[in-house]
Amino acid sequence: MSDMQTRFETLAVHGGEPRPGADGSVVFPIYQGTVFEADPGDAAADAPYIRLGTNPTQRHLQHRLAALEGAEAAVATASGMAAITAALHSVLGVGDHLIAAGAFYGGTLQFLTEHAARLGWTFEIVDPDDEGAWRRALRPGTKAFLTETITNPTIRIGDLAGAARFAREHALTSIIDNTLATPVVFRPHTVGFDLVCHSATKALNGHSDLAAGVVTGSSTRIAHVASVLCAYGSTLDPHAAFLLSRGLKTLALRVRQQNANALAVAEFLAAHDRIADVRYPGLAAHPDHRRAAEWFDGFGSVLTFRPVGGNEAAELLIKSLQLPYAASSLGGVESLVTRPAAGGHPGPIPGMSADVIRFSAGIEAAEDLVDDFAQALGA
Ligand SMILES: *Cc1c(COP(=O)(O)O)cnc(C)c1O
Repeated sequence: MSDMQTRFETLAVHGGEPRPGADGSVVFPIYQGTVFEADPGDAAADAPYIRLGTNPTQRHLQHRLAALEGAEAAVATASGMAAITAALHSVLGVGDHLIAAGAFYGGTLQFLTEHAARLGWTFEIVDPDDEGAWRRALRPGTKAFLTETITNPTIRIGDLAGAARFAREHALTSIIDNTLATPVVFRPHTVGFDLVCHSATKALNGHSDLAAGVVTGSSTRIAHVASVLCAYGSTLDPHAAFLLSRGLKTLALRVRQQNANALAVAEFLAAHDRIADVRYPGLAAHPDHRRAAEWFDGFGSVLTFRPVGGNEAAELLIKSLQLPYAASSLGGVESLVTRPAAGGHPGPIPGMSADVIRFSAGIEAAEDLVDDFAQALGA
């Protein structure tokens, strides 16, 4: 597609699609093949091969993902963790240091605490909203700055533009996990982030039926990430690439409905006398509401809250809900509820007790979700 100013709904359907399609097909086909003929003179690295991510279906998906994040290039990965670890591996070597600004998704935190030292990396976890803390964390070997657009599971929004600027000033590669926001809500390259990662297992695919990830950035940076992926063998299979590409077509519709549902549930819970501490950036009471209102298009699909009555009340509420599944992922078409601090997260989550419930909004009717919470809270 041309670089005309395209609204996101249109981009989700047409971005990165070849026109006309192969044999006139409206849908890009699945090439499941592992290897393709190349000219005898070509270097082996230029020959399309499945682990290199250069099979046509993989390439097609990567063009689409780059278009959605407004990036020069993208590489698809076997999972969100493959995306984050490959992005880090592409910039960090033995003796290098990482500034990690956020509370972090459990898998990311676990990777850093269990594996960074064995790779010869050091890291410091800092407040995503405190530039003074970032500055104090700087060392001669600091090479990268990692953060999350909306922190999971603490639902905070740090100084994102400030972080990208800080990284640039200190010649650090800035890396951001944009999973909770999705490019519908926020596109981190627009404020200067170098590498954007996603767990496409979540909202990008949206149907809770495959694992995938993506890293976007400049062609040069993505070539480094792709070479790490190729070496570690964590490329995305073409069949999953085809399914993800299909899921992306409805990304804008799904995410807008999820955002509306999350807001409706957050407003209902915030007004309920058996609920405390609703944390959703769409509520004026959220500490980062003004920042989110300025930068974001929508406030995301995830919120947390605490029922009055502690762990027992939280357990009863989850059992009494009829629509949301009690499951720990997010971003799918079906609503989910979980208790992030009640086990499953590697170590304590700052400021979060075990009675906190996280709600990931699906695409059901908002009224039905609110009615379900109303009946469950009456139980
Ligand atoms: C789920 C998730 C990941 C990891 O993704 P996988 O596809 O499960 O590997 C990373 N970051 C965030 C914010 C997530 O929610």
